[in-house]
Amino acid sequence: MKIGLVTYTPEKVEGFDVHVYYSKRADGSVFPAAKEMQNDVTCFCDAKAIREDPNIVAVSKSGPALRKNRKINVPFDFVCPTNPEYRAKVLGYVEGLGREKIEGVTLNLYHFPEEEFCVCPRCVELWRQSGLNWTAWRAQEITAFLKEAKRLVKGVFAVEMFPDPVLAKERFGIDFERIAELVDYFHVPLSSRDYLTSYWVDLLARDFLKVLKKPVVVELSAEMLTDEKADALLKTVAYLSRHNLMSVLMLVHDAENARQVCRYAVDNSGFREWLRKYEFAEMTRIVDEWAKLY
Ligand SMILES: [Zn+2]
Repeated sequence: MKIGLVTYTPEKVEGFDVHVYYSKRADGSVFPAAKEMQNDVTCFCDAKAIREDPNIVAVSKSGPALRKNRKINVPFDFVCPTNPEYRAKVLGYVEGLGREKIEGVTLNLYHFPEEEFCVCPRCVELWRQSGLNWTAWRAQEITAFLKEAKRLVKGVFAVEMFPDPVLAKERFGIDFERIAELVDYFHVPLSSRDYLTSYWVDLLARDFLKVLKKPVVVELSAEMLTDEKADALLKTVAYLSRHNLMSVLMLVHDAENARQVCRYAVDNSGFREWLRKYEFAEMTRIVDEWAKLY
């Protein structure tokens, strides 16, 4: 199992095999490509673009796909995925990344906000013309977008998803079967403020490994660590290391945040003893590597 980072700063950190950088984000900020890193591109969540042109937001009978709309529950503000101008903007950005020396591209939030979206006049017309049922049409739209994006991607191509292994197609138009034909791996973010309760991480990792027909990468949050949270996080990574995952990624603010996690593991003799006693071979190997560096 590889160990990696998801980060807001375009710098690699010693002791990690994989580096994912948020180059286009849900608040609408866009950054130059991070060289030799996997660049993570938020596709249809763009709070800034929606502020500038509210007409591009995805809509439902319960109103627009905005965080402030309390009739629904969405984590970000969503642009309608069939908006041709906005799609072209995202694809243009992906194409630009391909001109740089990057590791690859991970697409994030490339789907519909929820099952009841989008019923803008353009989407309703496209759906009618397709002759498909609602679920099939929405999945077809999203898969077609990913196919277009893949043609522009240089290097490794991956996608994130909202971590729902059962209803992803109905809710978001995410068709895991079709998408598996396009991607090199799936990136499953299991974000949390802490992992003091962590049975759900193990549960979702198992479910996604069963459902997804390509290698799986799991991401855990490692920002704002206390000793107690760091201990719980590292033990959760250790349990994940017993599954057949390609890698486990940790979300950090910056390189110092990543080194803090390493130092915590290296200096914590109780944790290292726990790894040995319960025979976490992979995690022991990772922490032993960190011990040579930190
Ligand atoms: Zn629409």
